[in-house]
Amino acid sequence: MKIALAVHGGAGTIARDLMTSAREKQYRDALELALRRGHGVLMDGGAALDAVEAAVRVLEDSPHFNAGKGSVFNADGQHEMDASLMSGSDLRAGAVAGVTNVKNPIALARRVMEKSGHVLISGPGAFEFAHKQKIELEDDQYFFDQFRYDQWKETLGTDSYQLDHSDTEKKFGTVGAVALDAHGHLAAATSTGGMTNKKWQRIGDSPIIGAGTYANDSTCAVSCTGHGESFIRAVAAHDVHALMSYKGLSLQEAVRVVVHEKLPPLDGDGGLIAVDLEGNVVLDFNCSGLYRGQVGNDGEFRTAIFR
Ligand code: ASP
Repeated sequence: MKIALAVHGGAGTIARDLMTSAREKQYRDALELALRRGHGVLMDGGAALDAVEAAVRVLEDSPHFNAGKGSVFNADGQHEMDASLMSGSDLRAGAVAGVTNVKNPIALARRVMEKSGHVLISGPGAFEFAHKQKIELEDDQYFFDQFRYDQWKETLGTDSYQLDHSDTEKKFGTVGAVALDAHGHLAAATSTGGMTNKKWQRIGDSPIIGAGTYANDSTCAVSCTGHGESFIRAVAAHDVHALMSYKGLSLQEAVRVVVHEKLPPLDGDGGLIAVDLEGNVVLDFNCSGLYRGQVGNDGEFRTAIFR
């Protein structure tokens, strides 16, 4: 049986000349650790859903990516996080938006799917649910990062917000994973801190099923990163599925159409990772880079950042 797993740590990159080899190694090591954790689940015959959750948790725990511990600051100096996951075998899904102090928002999204009777919950209500479910919480200090703080200070008091995947020196991104398990099931997961200096409880594509995350055993599993507003308008993740399902496109062709034809006219800078039923993996982007990694049946862990 085929298995496959891919992860991403956000689209856009630090300019190549500012990326030291030591820094690049830190990112790639974190991506590889996430792959190893998820791959271990798949090798043990575990479910794709468990594999993507395990991989995303590793990336949420890393300070290098804009999710969980490494989440950016919003306009109020807080960390509001969004996450979602979806199971391709039964189209069950769970998501949280604008949650604070939750160590692993992806674990909370999973609990929403399994225990809440809902798909998407948000804000203080989601926090209350997390508390009830005994989900691990952390104080504000846990999420503090000097780099992110300086990043926020630059935009503080202005109307500008900063997309973490913008091609600036200070770049880190949303995280995600997609997997095919040995039972032929697909799953996808995405987690983010959103945009620096975001306000009005802005919610991006990451917790929106069909926009930032989608999985369906009949076609593919998809996790996106990029300019969230555009990905919502393009219904990007679901569109990859739809192009395969209704038009019969291959995974690679469907991803190409979405990333290079549908998103650019909507200012949709970014990329996505996807896997199909045969274990084909596509990692594509329309910007300078994508923090990414994949592993398949050969057990070889491959990571990359630039094109
Ligand atoms: N898509 C995320 C959002 O708009 C940001 C990112 O991918 O870096 O919230």
